[in-house]
Amino acid sequence: MNQKGILIVVSGFAGTGKGTIMKELLRRYSGQYALSISMTTRSPRPGEQDGVEYFFTDRETFEHEIAVGGLIEHACYCDHYYGTPRAYVDSQLLMGKDVILEIEVQGALQIKEKFPDTVLLFVVPPSVQILYDRLKGRGTESGEVIAARMKRAGEECAYIPHYDYILVNDDLDVCVEQMHHIIQSQKLAAARNATFIESIYSDLQSLSF
Ligand code: 5GP
Repeated sequence: MNQKGILIVVSGFAGTGKGTIMKELLRRYSGQYALSISMTTRSPRPGEQDGVEYFFTDRETFEHEIAVGGLIEHACYCDHYYGTPRAYVDSQLLMGKDVILEIEVQGALQIKEKFPDTVLLFVVPPSVQILYDRLKGRGTESGEVIAARMKRAGEECAYIPHYDYILVNDDLDVCVEQMHHIIQSQKLAAARNATFIESIYSDLQSLSF
């Protein structure tokens, strides 16, 4: 079977609980997945640490990384740059890990274009009211930032048809298991296992009865 990992993109409106889903997926299946750590020019929120949630950096360093090809995708979201460092993704895929990029829609489409085998998942809230309540309840953003993120959600919605699957984050347990099963069933796709199928075929051809 194919031992190389696959690339998965997880997107969703701010406040849909993507972060919680990712944490739980990694806790349950720690040996299987690697979560890419992005680089961003936004400031850390209370409790966030450099090198854990993000690599926090300035605009100049970020633009240098773009120029030297250090990012496999990048996008501007609510006035800040976000991007995926290439080295970690490449090394984890080679080690057989399924690498998850938790990124927004523009980056997701860049990844799909560069790596068409990528599985794109979009996490949606059960309703818009629940989304608003969650964002407000988080208590880490001002009313202005929340308004910008709700507006952005309206724009992002138009991109959902480009994704392969949606996941409704109503019950965390159900959502995590659905995500795990979608990813694992993708790995069994015949098209991803052409070399293995070829080897079975050739072994069968060499038999003489
Ligand atoms: P937040 O500021 O709430 O942590 O993230 C804002 C948005 O940026 C989220 O939709 C998140 O998925 C997205 N994001 C985080 N890292 C990256 C990245 O490396 N590339 C892109 N394109 N989006 C990212």
